[in-house]
Amino acid sequence: MLERGCVVNPATIDKSVKIAVVGSGYVGLIAAVCFAELGHQVVCVDIDRHRVEQLNAGEVPIYEELLPELLARHRGRGLSFTTDLTEAAKQSEAIFIAVGTPQSPTGEADLSQVEASVSEIAAALGEYKMIVEKSTVPVLTNRWIRRTLLANGAREEHFDVISNPEFLREGTAVEDFLYPDRVVIGADQARARELARRIYQPMIDGSYYRREDRVPGARELNDGVLYLETSAQSAELIKHASNAFLAMKISFINAVSNLCELVGSDVTEVARGIGSDARIGQRFLNAGIGYGGSCFPKDVRAFYKVAESVGYDFELLQVVERINTAQQQHFMKKLRGALWNLRGKKVGVLGLAFKGGTDDVRESPAIQIVRTLLAEGCQVAVYDPAAMEKARRLLPNEPELTFAADSYRAAEGAHALLVVTEWKEFVELDLRLLRGMMRYPVVIDGRNLFSLEDMERAGFQYHSVGRATVDGTRIESGGVRMR
Ligand code: NAD
Repeated sequence: MLERGCVVNPATIDKSVKIAVVGSGYVGLIAAVCFAELGHQVVCVDIDRHRVEQLNAGEVPIYEELLPELLARHRGRGLSFTTDLTEAAKQSEAIFIAVGTPQSPTGEADLSQVEASVSEIAAALGEYKMIVEKSTVPVLTNRWIRRTLLANGAREEHFDVISNPEFLREGTAVEDFLYPDRVVIGADQARARELARRIYQPMIDGSYYRREDRVPGARELNDGVLYLETSAQSAELIKHASNAFLAMKISFINAVSNLCELVGSDVTEVARGIGSDARIGQRFLNAGIGYGGSCFPKDVRAFYKVAESVGYDFELLQVVERINTAQQQHFMKKLRGALWNLRGKKVGVLGLAFKGGTDDVRESPAIQIVRTLLAEGCQVAVYDPAAMEKARRLLPNEPELTFAADSYRAAEGAHALLVVTEWKEFVELDLRLLRGMMRYPVVIDGRNLFSLEDMERAGFQYHSVGRATVDGTRIESGGVRMR
């Protein structure tokens, strides 16, 4: 295992590597700009012609902090975009596969995008190249890729397949990529390990973090990143196991939040208390409406299926999923409890992205909540700082649904306001102004964004997660007096 600040063959230092990244989505595009930022020559490939045209024209197709700056810095210099995978692969020494691995109807990861790209890469393997799994894939996928390359005419001496899982989080993707907790390289062959080290060299020896023009990061990494070399199988498992563990942490604190509500305790206090134990840690202990997004739901399921396929019943993961589903239902129950009937009520929804800082709405709990509200006969007004366009494509085009210009417009005339994404701008809302625009002063907060005191002072009836219910309105015979 190569650790922090390890020594690399001096002959390879400072050599830029020709890299192809297949897929220009949330992972591929970030990896491509960051490899260019490390000094490599990168070509990023996508089958989506429109996206490649956008990128070549200098447009930024996804919302991600620091991405526009890095694209402007490297596009046309160390970074180019194309739809021609064979040509890009031919020119490259390392080919990172960062295509989608969505959930199949039976729960396993659907690896057809990986297979399609690998079959095309096989035709370009006239000399040695390293094929890198960047996408999240089930353990032993490296063997399938190898088999597919051989079946498509590639010669054994012309390639290695390694795993380099990605741990970035949308919203902080560039910083996560360049300042990671660790880089994991699962490679079984020395020549591949050496090439992977050349790629990550500026991060391994810390030289990137001493550059004046570096992207600033919160972490101090002058001594280099933690660089872990493992077998390919272990690296594949590390990724699925990490995501499953994080999802478990979220479900755990959500289960605790339900208990808090039942006994009148505060989950934020409890989370702080448990998280202060260094063995547990504070992060991912925010109670809410459950995890969503394009990774956790599918990865937990895929990990369960992988275990099942080799004869192990990883039942803990089923419970994690069950708690997650129940958490969203519990949120809707709070709304019903506050409004009685939903039919004909106007509900404002703040947030559509699956988390703050991104425009990604895939598997977003917010989207499901909006659909449920519409199905139950509500008028819904939604607002998100970044995800409106992507949400429009997923939500029905119907008169009962409006896309509001801002949070206040979403709240206007509403019987209740739901907070479902943790955007910073929601925390900064003028609560009195918001209260004044609503028909009933009811806020159901699935992200615990506001303090109980502030909501009480502003005169709201406020339901959050695992905390006391606030009633800042005047109580009359056990009920809330509505205007
Ligand atoms: P994405 O859907 O945003 O991007 C995938 C891209 O691949 C798309 O632009 C698609 O057009 C392109 N593509 C598909 N088939 C192709 C082909 N044959 N040739 C060229 N391009 C092709 O997906 P994503 O969110 O970037 O995720 C990619 C992988 O990374 C997944 O396995 C995911 O689980 C994993 N991952 C995602 C995140 C995240 O936060 N999004 C984090 C870590 C790991």
